[in-house]
Amino acid sequence: MNKTMKHQTTLILLLLTTNIIFGQAFVSITIDDVPNTAKYQMDNFESKLMNKLDSLKIPVTVFVNEELLNKGASFDKNYELLEKWAKRDYVTIGNHTFGHSRYSDVGFDMFVSDIEKGEMLSKVLVDKYSKKLEYFRFPYNDLGKDSLEHSRIEQYLASKGYISTPFTIESSDWMYNAVYENYRANKEFDKAVEIGRNYIDKTIEYFEFYDSISTQIYNRKIKHIYLCHDNSINADYLPILVDYLTKRNYSFISLQDALTDSVYHQNDRYYKKWGISWLYRWMNSQKEISSSMKNEPNMDILESQFKSIQENSNEKAGY
Ligand SMILES: [Zn+2]
Repeated sequence: MNKTMKHQTTLILLLLTTNIIFGQAFVSITIDDVPNTAKYQMDNFESKLMNKLDSLKIPVTVFVNEELLNKGASFDKNYELLEKWAKRDYVTIGNHTFGHSRYSDVGFDMFVSDIEKGEMLSKVLVDKYSKKLEYFRFPYNDLGKDSLEHSRIEQYLASKGYISTPFTIESSDWMYNAVYENYRANKEFDKAVEIGRNYIDKTIEYFEFYDSISTQIYNRKIKHIYLCHDNSINADYLPILVDYLTKRNYSFISLQDALTDSVYHQNDRYYKKWGISWLYRWMNSQKEISSSMKNEPNMDILESQFKSIQENSNEKAGY
């Protein structure tokens, strides 16, 4: 066996081993609260997250809050940013309401007007780039406080041709981001890097956790949907996460492809306002949900870090 053959055999063995350990897996990446106009302005009108995604070449779905365009110095610049997202071939645009209102707080009528207000510019842009606006994601994944509210809005969305978008995995990236940005603002860069690493490690733990639930219930790997946000920590660490997941045999698929998995054809049986994973919402009882939740990765350290920065900012604000 010559050197090249040896090398090839090792490579094939390595790929086989990875396949046996991890199995082929699929995930669709979804990003909420787009576009982050405050960060865009701070970064001299560059979206670092988009720049990174440009080279990753994976499909993503972004959920837009059009109110974000009214924030910051220039509406025109912000509109350009939204257009850049819409223009990308790998990007699917979804509606996340205009002002990120919470359905169970504002009620049906106000929520519907927030949905409709939130599609004005997105519709123009998807038309311009021959795309469709067909996905909707509830802010806070709050689908209403009871079954009546819940079915009322589902009917409305269906009548408008919207698909209500679930998720199976999230890892509190918004909370990691708050701590990360705080360290960076205080020029504590080593600590910020540590938070970035923790975000990756914990997210991988969450992937393993939710995968174990799906294997337990459905006896197979399902096509996952990961929820994260347009923020600093993802601008810096999402490519690393993608790399880690690729090594664990994940392929990155579109939301449309993910939703072909039969798990998503099940009814949501959860009628409270909390934004929990759909893997819980498809369970038969609260008891089943609670006993699975007990095994979730531990978030105590992050939660205490988050709490302490909140207390500090309250002190600064004189509360
Ligand atoms: Zn959101």
